[in-house]
Parts: sequence; structure tokens; C-alpha cells
Amino acid sequence: MTLNREQILREMGLGPVWKLRTALVEKVAAAEPLREVVKVIAAAPPSAAMAWDELAVAVAACRQCRLCEARKQAVLGVGDVNADWLFVGEGPGAEEDQRGEPFIGQAGKLLDNMLAAIGLKRGQDVYIANAVKCRPPENRTPAPEEIAACRPYLVRQIELIQPKLIVALGRPAAQTLLQSEIKIAAARGKLHDYHGIPLIVTYHPAYLLRTLADKAKAWEDLCFMRRTMAAQKGG
Ligand code: URA
Ligand code: SF4
Repeated sequence: MTLNREQILREMGLGPVWKLRTALVEKVAAAEPLREVVKVIAAAPPSAAMAWDELAVAVAACRQCRLCEARKQAVLGVGDVNADWLFVGEGPGAEEDQRGEPFIGQAGKLLDNMLAAIGLKRGQDVYIANAVKCRPPENRTPAPEEIAACRPYLVRQIELIQPKLIVALGRPAAQTLLQSEIKIAAARGKLHDYHGIPLIVTYHPAYLLRTLADKAKAWEDLCFMRRTMAAQKGG
């Protein structure tokens, strides 16, 4: 038994993508003569390129939450898939939804400046993603159930990238990664942990654009990130 393209896509649209391989393998394995072949395929080391392709297709077709209704396109993320640095924002805005890349509007310019301040550049050892991949209408904060529905994609991105440091930009990113209620003011300046990967929480650039008073704190956070990464690489 082989699944045709349509069946595969349907499968991908239905559930988290990393279940796909197992689900397909199980299905195909049920066809007795193929059992041995399938075992061999399943045991082979997964190709990272294929994993990213699957993820991209799954996110593009995803209808797991109502944010799919108004999006122009889902925005998976951008950058170096082997990056040491992973920055996670909230969700795409209007320009991001139009162009399919995260953080390209005003907040994105500030993020690029923040990256430059610690010697980083978009795409070079940096990957940028969001807590939700589809634009919330009117740029509202994504609802907890939308963030939860989208979380598996972020988890998968982290598995594939294996960053040395994760930076959560704002509350939605911090909460979905730490799976707890937090306040930025209390959570920043501390080293958190995401399954063994150090995680730092800081203000979202869009918030900083509105709240100049907290820019100095954001600068402290950038210095903390740089020190943390240096320690990660050194030790
Ligand atoms: N704000 C975000 O959190 N993400 C984007 O991609 C753009 C703005
Ligand atoms: Fe799917 Fe995430 Fe888009 Fe919701 S926001 S439809 S879960 S990709």
C-alpha cells in the first residue's frame, strides 16, 4: 500500500507533523509484504532537510486553530537552521503575513538593531520564529488555545535547530516555552531552562518601541544573553 500525495498532505494537515512519520510508517507497515522494508526505512537516521520540508508543508497547510482563517500565509521562521541563537516572538504582523518572513516591520527593525548590538545578524547563526505561525487579526495577542495549538511546531523547530540559547521575546513566547504563567519584569535577568537549553526572557521589541523607559533593561538583557552564550561555548 502506498499513500498518494493527497493522502499524505491530509495526514500532515491533521496532526502535529512529527507524528506523521510514525503514523505513515505504522500504516504502511500494516501491509504485510512491506513490513521488513518499512522497518529499515524507519530505522534510518532522519534527514534534517526532509524534516524541515515536512514541517514547512505542515505549517503552510495547518488548520489547527482559527488563526488559519484570516492569514494570507503561515510564517514558519527564518534563519540559520543550525543556529546557536534562537529568538522567539509572538506572531506575525501585517507585513510578516504579506511577505512570509518574521520580524520585518517596525519591531523587526528594532530586533535587527538589538541583534547588531551583540554582534549578531539575522540569518547568521540566528534563527527567528514566533509562538504562533499565523497572524492574529488586528495584531491582537494570540489566545492561549491558539498558542497551545501552534506549540508543537515551535517544539519541533527547537528539536531540529538545537540552539545553544533561546531568547523569548515577550510573554506569549516565554509562557509557551516555559509552560507557566510569567511576568516579564520578574522573569527577565534569570536563566531559565527549556529541556536542558538555557532560556532568557526579555521584552518584546514592539513593547520596547512603546515603552522607552524599559530600553535600558533590554540592554542589560542583551548583555546577559551575550555572557550566557559565551559561557555555553566556553564550557
Ligand atoms: N512581532 C512578532 O512577535 N513577530 C513578528 O514576526 C513580527 C512582529
Ligand atoms: Fe496552525 Fe499555528 Fe497557524 Fe494555528 S497559528 S493555524 S496552529 S500554524
